[in-house]
Amino acid sequence: MKAAIYPGSFDPVTFGHLDIIKRAAEIFDELTVSVLNNKTKTPLFSVEERVKMLEEATKNLPNVKIDSFSGLLIDYAKEKNIRVAIRGLRAFTDFEYELQIAQTNRKFSGGNLDTMFLTTSLEYAYLSSSTVKEVASFNGDISESVPDFVGKLLYKKYGYDR
Ligand code: ADP
Repeated sequence: MKAAIYPGSFDPVTFGHLDIIKRAAEIFDELTVSVLNNKTKTPLFSVEERVKMLEEATKNLPNVKIDSFSGLLIDYAKEKNIRVAIRGLRAFTDFEYELQIAQTNRKFSGGNLDTMFLTTSLEYAYLSSSTVKEVASFNGDISESVPDFVGKLLYKKYGYDR
């Protein structure tokens, strides 16, 4: 069985992430989307909230599982016996950072963790969780960036009832 992990912050999940999830789920038999519990970042949503949002947003994709992890991706992947990590590439600016992480993971896993990049669909190339949060924090329109139920939770975080 071909399995892959799609790790990330997903704070919160956007249509850009969901596009990558759908496409990766067509390539692999099983895709585990895993929320990284990163102590150096201050997220808006808790790990539990992010897991719940991902579960709801992917409920129609039977071969997609949602999980969370802390620590190194290579250790998590080894524990799960998964050898492929998925990452999305939006723009050239993502590339240098992603290349470095991918090479580090490959080296320190002894060649056991490879990274596959999917290029973003053009309509989502501008999208990031941070800009969505920025717009929502000013009560702006995020309907084209995140599913409605995620939008509602975002506005609630910023004290808007809409
Ligand atoms: P991280 O903090 O790990 O970068 P993110 O949740 O921001 O976590 O992103 C997780 C992955 O999804 C990354 O590979 C990122 O490049 C990708 N990604 C983020 N936004 C988009 C998008 N709009 N289209 C495609 N891929 C995206």
